[in-house]
Amino acid sequence: MRVIISGASGRMGRMLVKATDALEGAELVGACDRVGASLIGADAGNLAGIGALGVSLTDDLNDLPEADVLIDFTSPEGCLEHAAFVAGRGMAMVIGTTGFDPEQMATLKRTLADSPVVMAANYSVGVNLALNLIQQAAQVLAADYDAEIFEAHHKHKVDAPSGTALAMGRALAAGRNVDLMDAAVFSREGITGAREEGKIGFSVVRGGNIVGEHKAMFISDEERIEINHVASDRLVFAKGALRAADWLSQQKQGWYDMQDVLGLNV
Ligand code: NAD
Repeated sequence: MRVIISGASGRMGRMLVKATDALEGAELVGACDRVGASLIGADAGNLAGIGALGVSLTDDLNDLPEADVLIDFTSPEGCLEHAAFVAGRGMAMVIGTTGFDPEQMATLKRTLADSPVVMAANYSVGVNLALNLIQQAAQVLAADYDAEIFEAHHKHKVDAPSGTALAMGRALAAGRNVDLMDAAVFSREGITGAREEGKIGFSVVRGGNIVGEHKAMFISDEERIEINHVASDRLVFAKGALRAADWLSQQKQGWYDMQDVLGLNV
């Protein structure tokens, strides 16, 4: 499997280079980043701290060689550019980027309509299992269990709540057979009034170098059930993304998520 990593000088990009190099059968053939980024020309392996791989970071997509899959953890704008590149070359794409607005999302889906794609807000196997457990819990625990979702991330994260917190909200809402957007409460301030039954509340912390923490809580007058996930190393997302790329190489055109990759099918 020939792999291109976009955003290869970013926090996740470097992990993806490392995970690609570590996976048997995968080969890093290209690495790109934002036009004019300061590290253009550097060896992607050196940036990832694993020694030179002979793949230089480019900011010109035309410099990239043929590949089977492009893995993108960049920004919505970057991802859209990389999607157009992928679609024009009949490649597959694994998307980890979050923070798309509805219009960007629609453009992304249109652009990749004929490509095999995995897109997931979180590539950790543990988080995907947690999503499955949350849906099950929501089926069993009726709306008299107040549902709350908490997430915490490092201070550089630009979107909130995290894509994973929203995915947890959707799993919870699906278990209750409601629409998340009808049930969600994204902020509370001032005289909010008492909690309304059936709502799904979100709370967010940003600080330091927290890799990612997510917790779904089901709270009744008598007990509290918590489904909690803590990521301690970004490599967990990169390994999951490589697993998705490997799985995708056997799939036809279509839009998949990590539940499909893991056979969990929430
Ligand atoms: P980062 O800022 O460290 O890295 C982003 C990289 O993308 C940078 O190198 C940047 O130069 C590059 N980039 C940005 N815009 C670009 C453009 N227009 N063209 C080309 N390159 C561009 O950020 P990060 O922490 O690595 O996170 C990147 C994205 O991945 C975010 O959206 C984040 O939420 C997401 N993320 C997803 C998961 C998951 O499992 N799905 C896990 C971690 C992070």
